[in-house]
Amino acid sequence: MAKKWIYLFEEVEQAEKYAGSWEGVRGLLGGIGSGLADMTRAGVPVPPGFTVTTEACNEFRKTGKFPNGQWDEELAALKVVEHKTGKKFGDPSKPLLVSCRSGAKFSMPGMMNTILNIGLNDKVVDGMIKLTKNPRFVYDSYRRLIEMFGTTVFNLEDEVFEHPMDEYKTKKGYKLDTEMTAEDWKTLVGTFMEVYKKHVGSEFPQDVYKQLELATKAVFESWMGKKAIDYRKATNISDDLGTAVNIVTMVFGNMGDDSGTGVAFTRNPSTGDKKMMGEYLLNAQGEDVVAGIRNADPIENLGKAMPEVYKQFMDITAKLEKHYKDMQDVEFTIERGKLWMLQTRNAKRTAKAAIKNSLDMANEGLISKEEAVLRVTPEIVDMLLHPQFDETALKTAEKSGAYYVTGVNASPGAAVGQVYFDADTAERMAKEEKQKVIMVRPFTKPDDVHGMIASQGVLTSEGGASSHAAVVARQFGIPCVVGASKMKVDLENRIMEVDGKVVKESEWISVDGTTGKVFVGKIPTVETKIEEQTDLLTLLNWADNLAARPDIRILPDGRKAPGLQVWANADYPKDARRARSYGAVGIGLCRTEHMFFETERLPVVQRMILAKTPEDRKAALDELLPSQRKDFDGLFEAMNGYPVIIRLIDPPLHEFMPDEEKLFEECVTMRVKGETKGLKEKEDLLAAIRGMHESNPMMGLRGVRLSIYMPQIVEMQVRAIFEAAADCTLRGIVVKPEIMIPLTGTVKELEWIQPRLERIGKTVMEEKKVNFHYKFGTMIEIPRAAVTASELATRAEFFSFGTNDLTQMTFGYSRDDAERNFLITYVAEGILPKNPFQTLDRGGVGKLMQMAINDGRKTRPELEVGICGEHGGDPESIEWCHMIGNNYVSCSPFRVPIARLAAAHSALKYSGQKIIEDK
Ligand code: ADP
Ligand code: MG
Ligand code: MG
Repeated sequence: MAKKWIYLFEEVEQAEKYAGSWEGVRGLLGGIGSGLADMTRAGVPVPPGFTVTTEACNEFRKTGKFPNGQWDEELAALKVVEHKTGKKFGDPSKPLLVSCRSGAKFSMPGMMNTILNIGLNDKVVDGMIKLTKNPRFVYDSYRRLIEMFGTTVFNLEDEVFEHPMDEYKTKKGYKLDTEMTAEDWKTLVGTFMEVYKKHVGSEFPQDVYKQLELATKAVFESWMGKKAIDYRKATNISDDLGTAVNIVTMVFGNMGDDSGTGVAFTRNPSTGDKKMMGEYLLNAQGEDVVAGIRNADPIENLGKAMPEVYKQFMDITAKLEKHYKDMQDVEFTIERGKLWMLQTRNAKRTAKAAIKNSLDMANEGLISKEEAVLRVTPEIVDMLLHPQFDETALKTAEKSGAYYVTGVNASPGAAVGQVYFDADTAERMAKEEKQKVIMVRPFTKPDDVHGMIASQGVLTSEGGASSHAAVVARQFGIPCVVGASKMKVDLENRIMEVDGKVVKESEWISVDGTTGKVFVGKIPTVETKIEEQTDLLTLLNWADNLAARPDIRILPDGRKAPGLQVWANADYPKDARRARSYGAVGIGLCRTEHMFFETERLPVVQRMILAKTPEDRKAALDELLPSQRKDFDGLFEAMNGYPVIIRLIDPPLHEFMPDEEKLFEECVTMRVKGETKGLKEKEDLLAAIRGMHESNPMMGLRGVRLSIYMPQIVEMQVRAIFEAAADCTLRGIVVKPEIMIPLTGTVKELEWIQPRLERIGKTVMEEKKVNFHYKFGTMIEIPRAAVTASELATRAEFFSFGTNDLTQMTFGYSRDDAERNFLITYVAEGILPKNPFQTLDRGGVGKLMQMAINDGRKTRPELEVGICGEHGGDPESIEWCHMIGNNYVSCSPFRVPIARLAAAHSALKYSGQKIIEDK
């Protein structure tokens, strides 16, 4: 049987049968198409129509032609619609008009094209005037068609139509479109026809079928338009999906004051509050509301204006939310008192709203807890923890007259940046000049999205909470204030002005998307306090409980195991306390060398490094011991009851020494000036530093190699760790120290160093007469370590993947240079799918990890395995760690909430599955 390219709205069952699932239907018919079909099935009033499938679009993209049979099916479907409506396409005596709308599986607000009023031509216009006795409405509709046809099918700039229209209105002294009379619109239709002909090179098509054909093609083509491609790149939507085309009988909101059009969200998309939020306009069509051309009324007012319609609308939307179990974003039109639904889809919302909705809906019993956790993506949590303005600084700014203007708080968060007045400049300044940018526009359009994404914040003078700027900003978590109507944006002179206060391009402003207030100058921001995010904390708590279920994973030997824990990388007690407040249940990495860099300690460290005799070195180390002990003491106290992994000194010693070049210059200057005092010391130091020089320090004397070459340092460190642990134990704190040996490449290294260190630990426990549990383990960051893991595990009680080094050494890419040199090109050219220093390379580095876990656990079934590289906070990498059997991931304290959620998502996605073994 030939493929079916078209489904009438009432053929949703057939589509379901073909596509196999509702997910499949959404892929086939797109979001809008499947929503319209589904509403039709549920008895919601939807204007008759049909959908051309995404499969047809994909065929079209391959061949540049409609696939065989599509056009015939389209004509046949139109006949059915004619029959249903009792109207006829192109017939002046009973004209049928349709819209041609794009709709992909995932909504891409405003990214692709819609043409309204298809089916109008000169004759139909005359016929409709006779029928409706409303010439104003008919000419208004006709000029919209010409404009949308020109801009959509032939990619003309909006300006070519907007400009003559503005000129006309100015000449007539009109401010609003509503002041235009029938005669005015008629004149403008004439003007638009000329504009169209001038730019397109041919007359506007009077053949209505030609209109339909060109419109369908244009929607297909818009899928590969630049702005659509950019948007998909930014949102990770595949280019292969294609868009569907929906042909929908026109209903008219611009037929008088018993008609109107509007958009609404079934809950508040900004705060998540369970209250309908929407806007409508009487006597208006289509995008008038979204474009913010006139100030729309809040949806509640419809209750007074048209009580019957309002009630029906509220019933329908309640039903839709129940049906889809999610907040809906709906469009409707009222034609002479009759309500029509034109769209329903899951709404875009802020991070805050997304979390609140998920919790609310789980509590309402609409969805399960699992579903609630799954709905909140790690990116959402990331956005929520974005900085806010410092409260006191904000008050000071307000008092000092920095306040500038207030608009609608469309997308929350604090943004500070330099003002730029168009998307291209904003993007350039952000990307090339590395500036922090605020994009300011009267309003935004789909081709502004690249500038918005590059900006810290967005500010517009027009439009409301459902304007393009607001919707897009919310989706990307960009702070945004819209409709600051006191502000005049003068694009020509590149300035904005409020009551005589002028801000020029490149000047700094601060935009508070949470309150809608805008300030001149820079206001300091603070990290958000997680303690105040009670909804988030509840949700993360659910997430933890899901991941902690004892039967989430099946180990290769058949035992059951929970999902991943989340630990944190923390060097200081204050980081450890933050890690705890963010929900970390262990420290996966404490870098001890940071403690050596403190100003008062560094000279002692240098003295220790330069010591000529063992006695001198020991003296310096003895001096360092108390401070190290104090650091660890604080750490254990903050992590009372939780494991703390302390990594012994790792970097090459030259990192602790003064800069060689600078020192050299100083010596030369002193010699030139003939100064002698202190010169010899300087020159000795210089010679010593030069003696330590290595060509490849990252592959040189560092990690365990340094410990074996100069064991006194780590001996001091281990003594400090055990003394601190003992002291804490005596104070009633439960300590779980784990000592981690870095950069191991052969088990012999462990065999050499570990017994010495352990002996020190035991001595301390005897001295202090306390006992506590401790572990010795190693980092896996050299490929050889992964390959010989079964041997390493004879000594190591735990492994921690240092994936920064492991990635560097597996690829042979220097991580200090690769990113700025070739890595960007590699990703752009598709040689690498992603930056492997951000997202784990599963095929190479990931395989080594898998091998190390398998072999390591064969030697030691209880081997504890974690990861402490940057990847420990990256959701995709976390998923891999779950799949291969890590016990925990460890990341920066700020990323702990994201990791907790990612861990729960992996647990749910692979619940009850076997850990994947390396073959
Ligand atoms: P967008 O992605 O810009 O929302 P839509 O395809 O949903 O694009 O349509 C644009 C506008 O035109 C919306 O306000 C929609 O409600 C309106 N519209 C679309 N089809 C019709 C129709 N058949 N009758 C009346 N209005 C319509
Ligand atoms: Mg559209
Ligand atoms: Mg829409």
